[in-house]
Amino acid sequence: MLSRRPQATIDLAALEYNFARVKQLAPNSKVLAVLKANAYGHGMLMVAQALHQADALGVARLDEALALRAGGIAKPIVLLEGFFHADELAQIVASNLQLVIHHRDQAEALLAAQLDAPVRVWLKIDTGMHRLGIYPHEFNELHQRLSQSSNVQGPLRLMSHFASSDEPDKPATANQLTLFQHITQGNAGEHSLANSGAVLNWPQSHGDWVRPGLMLYGVSPMAEAVGKQHGLKPVMTLSSSVIAVREVSAGDAVGYGGSWIAAHNSRLAVVAMGYGDGYPRGAGNNADVLINGKCHPIVGRVSMDMITVDIGTAPVAVGDKVVLWGADLPVEELARRVDTIPYELLCNITSRVQFSYIRHT
Ligand SMILES: *Cc1c(COP(=O)(O)O)cnc(C)c1O
Repeated sequence: MLSRRPQATIDLAALEYNFARVKQLAPNSKVLAVLKANAYGHGMLMVAQALHQADALGVARLDEALALRAGGIAKPIVLLEGFFHADELAQIVASNLQLVIHHRDQAEALLAAQLDAPVRVWLKIDTGMHRLGIYPHEFNELHQRLSQSSNVQGPLRLMSHFASSDEPDKPATANQLTLFQHITQGNAGEHSLANSGAVLNWPQSHGDWVRPGLMLYGVSPMAEAVGKQHGLKPVMTLSSSVIAVREVSAGDAVGYGGSWIAAHNSRLAVVAMGYGDGYPRGAGNNADVLINGKCHPIVGRVSMDMITVDIGTAPVAVGDKVVLWGADLPVEELARRVDTIPYELLCNITSRVQFSYIRHT
């Protein structure tokens, strides 16, 4: 019997398709595929296995990297925020992880450590994001000292992160790129700057390594776009089922707080999906779902486990499949409606949702 629980269906063929699209856009760059936050909610290990063509994988935290290693992933893995405490360095060396060094204190701790083997270092420069990264004026000194350290393997890789690459009309990205080139001029190390927005909008920033996250999952980083416009295929379909159909009369108030009042006699489908599954509460009276391929509005508030949908006279029955987002209902559109970004919606899916992996060609 088909489960009526909320489902996230992950299409690994779409993931591979999007990876190929990255290679097409950045043909001369290696790809560091970003898998932090459980691969943007898609399931880190399955995504890592499917992306066997990636040159390296990027995660935010040590436990994410260790989970990949425990799952048998042998590929280079980069800790995008480096280590948080020098105690972690032994494990980082033992698990053959690579480090971003983004702060003088981190560099000093690495230089002072006693390691069993040298680690690969990506030196991150702050060129305008003002979050992580060494100051431009620290570059020459830290670069030289790290390069000479027996704790550091081979030539340093040099990186920076863009604040606004998803907004091609702003000058910020060009300014960051110019500053990066100026600081690193004459340096042999491989360069990496481009997140998804820059892979799509700033070919001059691709360098030796691109670092796409969101676009691998088929989703656009740009506020007004959807993945399809960039030649991407959404990887996740979030779906559930109708668990009840009921009639309401004109004037009936629906759900908590009675925030929606039926204007005329109608029919409602109750769907097993709520904020307890990670579906955004802001979608109440504010978004659509697909039932049997047709668009219907969510009416009333989103509850923890359920939403109510106005189905009018459509022939909807208990057990019918409901799509909350996917190829025909972009998550980007829902993000706009509820005033957030698709990154957040994807990451917020909870463990109540049942994941399945398919290869839809
Ligand atoms: C998350 C992250 C990325 C990927 O960003 P997207 O916008 O998802 O492509 C790239 N680089 C770093 C350092 C990151 O933290």
